[in-house]
Amino acid sequence: MKPHGPIPPGFAADADGMLLIGGARADRLADAAGDTPLFVYVGALLAARIAEWRAAFPETVQLHYAMKANPYPPLLAFMAERVDGFDVASGGELRAALASGMAAEHISFAGPGKRDRELEAAIAAGATLNLESIGEATRALAVAARLGITPRLAVRVNPDFDLKGSGMKMGGGAKPFGVDAAEVPALVRRLIDAGADWRGFHIFAGSQALDAAAIAETQGQTVALAARLANDVGAPPPLVNIGGGMGVPYFPGDTAVDAVAVGAALADTLAARDPVLATSRFAMELGRWLVAEAGVYLTRIVDRKVSHGETFLVTDGGLHHQLAASGNFGTVIRRNYPIALANRFGGEPAETVSVVGCLCTPLDRLGDQVALPAAQVGDLVALFQAGAYGATASPAAFLGQGPAREMLV
Ligand SMILES: *Cc1c(COP(=O)(O)O)cnc(C)c1O
Repeated sequence: MKPHGPIPPGFAADADGMLLIGGARADRLADAAGDTPLFVYVGALLAARIAEWRAAFPETVQLHYAMKANPYPPLLAFMAERVDGFDVASGGELRAALASGMAAEHISFAGPGKRDRELEAAIAAGATLNLESIGEATRALAVAARLGITPRLAVRVNPDFDLKGSGMKMGGGAKPFGVDAAEVPALVRRLIDAGADWRGFHIFAGSQALDAAAIAETQGQTVALAARLANDVGAPPPLVNIGGGMGVPYFPGDTAVDAVAVGAALADTLAARDPVLATSRFAMELGRWLVAEAGVYLTRIVDRKVSHGETFLVTDGGLHHQLAASGNFGTVIRRNYPIALANRFGGEPAETVSVVGCLCTPLDRLGDQVALPAAQVGDLVALFQAGAYGATASPAAFLGQGPAREMLV
């Protein structure tokens, strides 16, 4: 038997032992969707998460949603009414963000490799471009001149540090992201001289960290770097986007980030900030932390078999929807995500089984030798922490399987 990650709070069973998701029975949700596999996202959990963040962080800090974590249109529309901005990373995400109802002035567009037509779409819409390189800055200024529009331009800084303990390092050393800190002041002066509306700095040092002290330390370094750069520029940045980094517990032994501690430390950092940042506004951009726990992936058991003494529950889902849970998306050692039998949620484990998907590859394993209540063909398996980097971060077309259904309840 191998352990699985902690089931997130907010889920319970009804009297029959059926998992309730946002108050609705998992089997009824699958019926309503018409088929499995199915992602269910719970609006009440999203709203609670946003409220938790707002209670923990200073009122002066804005909350942005990094929509690559989950761009499902109904979820985006839900978030658009509740957060202060969206961060997008492609022309396609920009279109989805605009369609969600989020105002263009609250959308910022980061990401390397923006094509001229994407720069044009952002400038024409009035969104902010987080410039990733000097070459991109030159192209953005040229596009703006051609359109006759004053562009909103911020500079993404490649910081000289990274977020300790983060699952994905996005700064420090040679990186395709952002402009090396040493080159930033000259670039900002060039943008201002060219007549652009300089919006400030974007500094993103890492992702999926659970250690509040490490996040707080990085935020301190981030604000200090923004002040140093602003002093070199000789102008205050209107907005400093200090990145995100708050992760969620996926694996055995992981514990939730202490958001209250991070927020309190940020309040102290901002209270002591360099005077050059006195009038600046600040934003955090979060993807995973906002949406992961609000999502459940439901997949149905199609077959049950024993091979050389190991019991397999073969499901209609798999890595084509949950690549990360299969251990094939940026993990070195495969460990089990939080998983449960939806039909007997919270029931005593009765057997050790491996839950696999329907793809013809040994990589397609959703739960490796996990202890679950006795399961039958037709039962539903629930994978948790499925609200982020699931449906759109997995190869849905692989083996002709196609996308999962999705619903917001
Ligand atoms: C991916 C990304 C995020 C979101 O990261 P999460 O771990 O989902 O919070 C935020 N900002 C930038 C620039 C990103 O690329």
